[in-house]
Amino acid sequence: MKKVKIRLYTDIVVNEDFAPTLGEAQSHYLCNVMKVQTGDEILCFNNRDGEFLCRIEKSDKKHTLLKIIKQTKKFEPSPDIWLLFAPLKKDQTDFVIQKATELGVRKIIPVFTKFTITDKVKTDRFKAQAIEAAEQSRRVDVPEIGECVSLEKILLNWNPERKLFFMDETGGGESVLNVFGKAKGSKAAILVGPEGGFDADELQALRKAPFAQGVSLGKRILRAETAVAAALACWQAAAGDWTEEVEENGVTNI
Ligand code: SAH
Repeated sequence: MKKVKIRLYTDIVVNEDFAPTLGEAQSHYLCNVMKVQTGDEILCFNNRDGEFLCRIEKSDKKHTLLKIIKQTKKFEPSPDIWLLFAPLKKDQTDFVIQKATELGVRKIIPVFTKFTITDKVKTDRFKAQAIEAAEQSRRVDVPEIGECVSLEKILLNWNPERKLFFMDETGGGESVLNVFGKAKGSKAAILVGPEGGFDADELQALRKAPFAQGVSLGKRILRAETAVAAALACWQAAAGDWTEEVEENGVTNI
């Protein structure tokens, strides 16, 4: 059987009786970039119903008509872990969105702190990056991208049911696996500071908040984007879905 490689996010696949049509951007990608032909098979997922194997019935530059052959994965949301991060330079921010998506976060919120280097945040770009990373990593959901918000507001409006783990490079935080190991099954968020770190007042506010807990990622100072990837990997291994066995090929056949 021909190996299925192309995997697209589309919000229009609904069920096996429905013939979805892809719009211009994806048709251009399929036709002109990937050079697909009628009869080729692709995978589509929609952040709601799971993943479907589809056959291309007709494709031109503007529209692609698909026929759903079968459902290949059930919908399953990623673990209930959020990432809060201070936007960085463009390339590092792209890295954060991509890696956080691959590492299975459910929601990403850009947070302005005192030393955040940018005040312009393109959440549309974040959404596009998250979709691309979800397509590539075979997620069936796409992480939600929250509106950019100040750390002050975050702390003011935080729902205490969700534990806020802030990555504290200044020491004093408990070691990461100890903390995350005890957090299995609970809603959580990971907060990583900007390149300049948190300001003293911010650290004080975080330490005082009853729902927040400082976490150490060891004695070396990591770049913010490294801290994001390291913290999320530790979370998935200690409390998230890396604790589960994965079926052969990582595919849930249904
Ligand atoms: N400007 C600081 C470093 C900031 S690193 C300095 O030079 O000291 C950026 C962010 O990554 C920090 O705010 C923290 O959230 C996270 N981070 C980096 N290294 C860390 C570590 N060893 N433990 C916990 N968090 C860390």
